[in-house]
Amino acid sequence: MEYRDRSDDECHELIKAAKASLGQDLVILGHHYQRADVYQHADLRGDSLKLSKLASQTNSEHIIFCGVHFMAEVADIMSNQHQKALLPDLAAGCSMADMANLSKVNRAWTEIKSVLGEEMSVTPITYINSAADLKAFCGERGGIVCTSSNASQIVTWGLGQREKILFFPDQHLGRWSGHQLGLINEIDMKVWDPDLWMGGLSEEEIKQAKILLWKGHCSVHQMFQPEHIARFREKYPEGHVISHPECRFEVCDQSDFVGSTEYIVQTIAAAKPNTRWLVGTELNLVNRIAEEFRSEGKVVEFMSPLVCMCSTMNRIDPQHLAWQVENLVDGTLVNQIIVPDADKDMARVALDRMLSIS
Ligand code: SF4
Repeated sequence: MEYRDRSDDECHELIKAAKASLGQDLVILGHHYQRADVYQHADLRGDSLKLSKLASQTNSEHIIFCGVHFMAEVADIMSNQHQKALLPDLAAGCSMADMANLSKVNRAWTEIKSVLGEEMSVTPITYINSAADLKAFCGERGGIVCTSSNASQIVTWGLGQREKILFFPDQHLGRWSGHQLGLINEIDMKVWDPDLWMGGLSEEEIKQAKILLWKGHCSVHQMFQPEHIARFREKYPEGHVISHPECRFEVCDQSDFVGSTEYIVQTIAAAKPNTRWLVGTELNLVNRIAEEFRSEGKVVEFMSPLVCMCSTMNRIDPQHLAWQVENLVDGTLVNQIIVPDADKDMARVALDRMLSIS
């Protein structure tokens, strides 16, 4: 029988049996946004960088990343020689990561150089939500990777190295980070549209800008609007609002707290009992937090009235996971993610730069 025809319950049993058989040879990573029926099988849980770091500290030869493609790439880059990273469904991509690719970033770099000259002083910074070859691009050019936890710190570092930053692929994380550093004038941060000649900017605008923000975004976090916060505050003036920095600027600006998935979990965990929270991040995580802290009387609400999950990560279901672990039991690797050596080395340079300063 095809795996897609098997019931969830049957797949759960197959996964449990395969895990028991593989023992320490396998570690399953579950990202915060992963659906509950897959997340329950994870040995380690958290955000993408934390999970890749933890996996590299295990002796497991096989690392299954229940997340999206770039996360499995990071796991492969950070893994030890004997370890192999796997993704249950290759169609589990990240729509934001796909908004920047090497040819578009190369073209932007060349166009910026044509304005600023050969010796241009620009630090390329890529959000960890990007393909491995873009991390390598940054590694080769004195640039760096950032996460949603350390973006402000990394942007500070980048501006300490050179006059400007090219930040990709998430304009919102870049804008929020720049704003945190006091870049509040319109000329300081300009959006670079990769589909337009010179990013749609004039030479003057490119010369004046401190940060060029790639025109990319997360479709999930774009669903949250300032009106959602206004309605909540009107109804619950004592409530707290917490958002992920992938949300648009107006949402972050009107939130009481802004931070990464780990920060969101930790902030609500540390809050007083019987508090109320409006949370602007992916629905699977919000549901999980709501459940976890209900016994403390904390009420945790999702920011949008519409359902918005990470639909690509949701492609990883019990059927794909069962198929992958059963193949492993048979000694067959399916959907291994292998970053080419050249990209791996330079991406590692950009990641290590980040780890050394944050
Ligand atoms: S939530 Fe958005 S940024 Fe995160 S993996 Fe999904 S599409 Fe990518």
